[in-house]
Amino acid sequence: RINTKKITTGSQALDGLLGGGIETRTMTELFGEFGSGKTQLCHQLSVNVQLPLEKGGLGGKAVYIDTEGTFRWERIEAMSKAIGLEPDSAMNNIYYMRAINSDHQMAIVDDLQELISKDPAIKLIIVDSVTSHFRAEFPGRENLAVRQQKLNKHLHQLVRLAEMYDLAVIITNQVMARPDMFYGDPTVAVGGHTLYHVPGIRVQLKKSRGNKRIARIVDAPHLPEGEVVFAITEEGVRD
Ligand code: ATP
Ligand code: MG
Repeated sequence: RINTKKITTGSQALDGLLGGGIETRTMTELFGEFGSGKTQLCHQLSVNVQLPLEKGGLGGKAVYIDTEGTFRWERIEAMSKAIGLEPDSAMNNIYYMRAINSDHQMAIVDDLQELISKDPAIKLIIVDSVTSHFRAEFPGRENLAVRQQKLNKHLHQLVRLAEMYDLAVIITNQVMARPDMFYGDPTVAVGGHTLYHVPGIRVQLKKSRGNKRIARIVDAPHLPEGEVVFAITEEGVRD
């Protein structure tokens, strides 16, 4: 994987699992049950991408597409202060977009190419969560084909942006606990693989004791197997 750059997660253990951090030219899926830390990691990465290269960032900006209304500027403020970034400029370096339904979510991504051309400092695109609107609007087996078709188009568009502009894309996907159990919905099925045939790295997050979380990489031949533990603290993602 030549020429990719890495963004630190804030946890050395998690960075190690990822081969150095979240990489550019790649889409990374964070999947796991509620409270497993997907949204907190997204906040942390939208701050960390702004760090200079020598501190594990890309000196870049982030686009944060929020579909569930769970983005909090206060978290950006706390996380940026904790790593010595000026909170106001850290907040200014995040393009926040609230997607109100799946069509809106897709339209936002349609328009990103224009935004990135105007502001090439954008080095990270986050879609948190990528699946919630699609699941709500196209429920059940009977809507599966159209849902999957729309979602695939959306995902491929994101992959293309990652490759064209050498940026990182992170998508989140809520998957209920017991991923061995089949819920009659392939996007919530074994392992929770939304991406299927879309290229990318899949990271499963699980709750552990207290503020500890467990991360595991699924299906990535070039990355080590195994699990790591990290923590979510007031200051953000840490070992
Ligand atoms: P969902 O699928 O419901 O969106 P998620 O995987 O996005 O869940 P997060 O919102 O990232 O989950 O994680 C929530 C958890 O993060 C909280 O339960 C808490 O443990 C931790 N957390 C959130 N804010 C703080 C904070 N300010 N200080 C410490 N820990 C926090
Ligand atoms: Mg969340």
